[in-house]
Amino acid sequence: MQEQLETIERNGLSALETIDDTDALESWRVEHLGRSSPLMDVFNQLGQLPKEERPAIGRIANQVKQSLEASYAEKVEYLKEAELIRTLRTEHIDVTLPGRKVQIGRLHPITQTMRRIYQIFAEMGFQVYQSRDVETDEYNFQLLNFPPHHPAREMQDSYYVAGEYEEDNPVLLRTQTSPGQIHAMREYAAEYPDDPPPIRIILPGMCYRHEQLSTRSETQFTQVEGLAVGKSITFSDLKGTLSDFNKRMFGMQVRSRFRASHFPFTEPSAEVDIECFVCGGQGCSVCKRTGWLEILGCGMVHPIVLQNGGYDPSIYTGFAFGMGPERITMLRHRVEDIRYFWTNDMRFLEQF
Ligand SMILES: [Zn+2]
Repeated sequence: MQEQLETIERNGLSALETIDDTDALESWRVEHLGRSSPLMDVFNQLGQLPKEERPAIGRIANQVKQSLEASYAEKVEYLKEAELIRTLRTEHIDVTLPGRKVQIGRLHPITQTMRRIYQIFAEMGFQVYQSRDVETDEYNFQLLNFPPHHPAREMQDSYYVAGEYEEDNPVLLRTQTSPGQIHAMREYAAEYPDDPPPIRIILPGMCYRHEQLSTRSETQFTQVEGLAVGKSITFSDLKGTLSDFNKRMFGMQVRSRFRASHFPFTEPSAEVDIECFVCGGQGCSVCKRTGWLEILGCGMVHPIVLQNGGYDPSIYTGFAFGMGPERITMLRHRVEDIRYFWTNDMRFLEQF
């Protein structure tokens, strides 16, 4: 019986030597370690052996079994590795090829400019006040000192919303962010009508005008308006605030210039220019050889507007200003056509 076991082991191991694929290995396992293998026959016959021989033969049978199993496990590993090597040889992956980049989105150039404006005014204590896009004629014009048929309305051809409304008070898409001034003042004043609190806000948002499309005008554009109201606000506060804004926005060296102008809702009014940051004031195509770039409009809040907002103009004064993030972005990045901002051309947007 001992010889029989040695033969089983020898035959098994030599048969295993020649195997080089997993199918053959499986057949080998069934043949040499399976239920009807010669080895299992030996185990089955153990019970018929004389009692004194059983332990010795049993031990040898177990050793043979372990030896065959260990060799089998080794062969399994060997074949796995061989398979991997074969795959690596036949299925080449060129790891030196650059991978596909994950596309990361970015903020729209106008959003970037708006956020920079918020940041600068936040540092000066201005809060952001959001106001509605759809307005009544009363809020968009009348309360801001643009009476019906006032010539200043010529500049702001509007989109009207169809529907029933009072005569002279149609509903329209706001042509400016200024109606937010009235909403804000009324909201602040409603809380303490006898002694309304001071206001320091910026009002950003989309505005709409029925414009002829060109490189300089779009039918929708953003504005950032500012409003400060208090008991002793003067024109020098306005100048200081806006000169400081210009420095922080366009560079600490930049000089500001205030030119007299006219807006219905401010008195006195001014346009603010900055020294051209492209040519340093020498004159170039961007500043049209003047050395100055027009940046924003501003003025002291008109007494009628303060009154309409619920602030007594004999006690309170204030200043307001408005600027176009599109224009600022165009100047800063030398963008030549305002329509690029809304055409969603990736070649344009990817540059920011
Ligand atoms: Zn210039």
